[in-house]
Formats: sequence, structure tokens, C-alpha cells
Amino acid sequence: MKHFKSIVQLLDHFKDEQTCIDFLEQQKWNGQPVCPHCQHDQVYRVKPGKYRCKAKGCCQYFTVRHNTIYADSRIPLRIWFGAIYLYTTSKKGLSSVQLATQLNITQKTAWFLAHRIREAFVEKVVTPLEGVVEVDEMYVGGLESNKHISKKDKEGRGQNCKHIIIGFVERGGRVRMKHLPNTNADTMQPAVFQNVSLDAHLISDAHASYKTLWMVYDNHTIVKNHSSYRTQGTYHTNTIEGFWSIFKRGYVGIYQYMSKEHIMRYCNEFAYRYNTRRVSAEERFEDSIKNLQGVHLNYKQLTGKEKK
Ligand SMILES: [Zn+2]
Repeated sequence: MKHFKSIVQLLDHFKDEQTCIDFLEQQKWNGQPVCPHCQHDQVYRVKPGKYRCKAKGCCQYFTVRHNTIYADSRIPLRIWFGAIYLYTTSKKGLSSVQLATQLNITQKTAWFLAHRIREAFVEKVVTPLEGVVEVDEMYVGGLESNKHISKKDKEGRGQNCKHIIIGFVERGGRVRMKHLPNTNADTMQPAVFQNVSLDAHLISDAHASYKTLWMVYDNHTIVKNHSSYRTQGTYHTNTIEGFWSIFKRGYVGIYQYMSKEHIMRYCNEFAYRYNTRRVSAEERFEDSIKNLQGVHLNYKQLTGKEKK
């Protein structure tokens, strides 16, 4: 795949719909379209990106967008590709306003694109985290934040918009997050069990809800004071705290507000960029496009409302 140093280079390469169609055909079918209804590999090319199956008794039409996140969308593939590239490369994230400006689309379109693209960032294979795993909880939103949020408070959303996120990070490996309703042991501990291997060496702070984890984990180190980590050698939660600071910079600097309906999508976005930090921009782009095959997220699923 070509090397793209910037969004401009990417859009220069994917200069029109046909270039994007060729790319998707190659990625989906190795260049030879296959009927999704009967798996026949002989098709008529009706028009760019549209095909008709040659198999007798099938003869169905299908498009290059079939069974992808773009299936219900009329937005040019070039815009989709540009947006995917921007989300996989923007370290702190990208607001829908910024996306709209960069791609010359409306903010509403940008918002939908962004949330659909975040489906590419959902972890596909969820296995327990291993080795040395740091666990910590983070609070975002609510009153600690900036004016933008407090303006929203007046509209009655703010009191509830302080989110509790529990995060786990493997030293040198993956990060994972979960949005929690509270910090009770009954809530936090199952999240730990679901995400951290019983053989892992767990490191947490002294939050009361972690205290009895030693009953399940043979190796559990509690770091008493976050600020004294320097004196405690490998027993620290710096890695997860470093990740929280990236997330919080994105929250405060870029997004400024995340509703509880969508916060996990943002978590997935930040986790994806972290988990692919050693991968090149092109590989992330290709990987995200692959991840968007077989994924559907319609208007109602995204907003909880019928499309007008
Ligand atoms: Zn067919």
C-alpha cells in the first residue's frame, strides 16, 4: 500500500470514487467480485461499484458497499476514507466540527461518520490481559471540566455526566476500558475478573473496592500513594495514568462532552490508537477498513430515534 504522510496525500491518491471502489474490490474480493447471495464469482459490472450475479437462478444485484458500514450511506467513499484516516492518525481525537472542516462536509454528517467509524475500533478478539496489568479508575466530565460543560450543566445534563471508567493496561501491551455506573466492589471486581487473567500480576491503587482482590489473584500489589511511585520500582500505575492523561487531553481539548450512550465509542477510539501504536498509519487505515466490513450501525441504533 502507498505511504500516506498526510490527509492531503491520501485524498490525492483516492482522487475519485472509482479509485476507492478499486481499493475495496481488491480488499474484499482480491479484485474479483463475488456474489454475496450465492457466492458465485462470475458477475456483470453494471456500473462503477454495482454488479449483477451471472449465476442462473440468482441474477441478483449488489454493490461494493454491501455488508459494510457504508452500505446505507450515500457519502462518497473518498470522504469515508479521509475520515477513517483522520481518526486513525489524530492522537487526541478529532471533533465533528474539525472533521467537517477538513473534509468540507456538514457537522451533522461528520458526527454520523465519526460514530460509525468508531465501530472499526471495537476490539475483535477479547482475551484476558496477561503479565503485569495495571488497573485504575478515571472520572471524566461533570463539574471539574471547562465552561462548555458547565453551560451544559444548566441544561440539566451535567450532574449526571461525570463518567466512571475503569481501565486496564498490560505493561508493553494492550489497554482496555469499561464504563461503570459506580465504584462499588460489586461493580469494579467483576470488571477486573472479566478483563484480567487470574495469572496476571495485578497492580492497583488503594481504592477500597480493590482491597479483597488478593482472594482471587495470587499476585496483587497495592500502590499506596500515586505520587510516590518513583520510590516503588516496578510497583506503580504510571502506565495507565499516562493513558488517562492522553484520554483527558482529548476530552478537555477536543471532545469536551461525551454522553453516556456514546462514551464507550470514544473509549474504543482511544484504546485502538494506543493498541496500534507500533503500527504504521497505512496499516491502521487498512486494518480499520477491514474492520468495517460486516459492521452495521444505522441511524436508529446510533441515535435511538427513527430517521425523519
Ligand atoms: Zn448470486
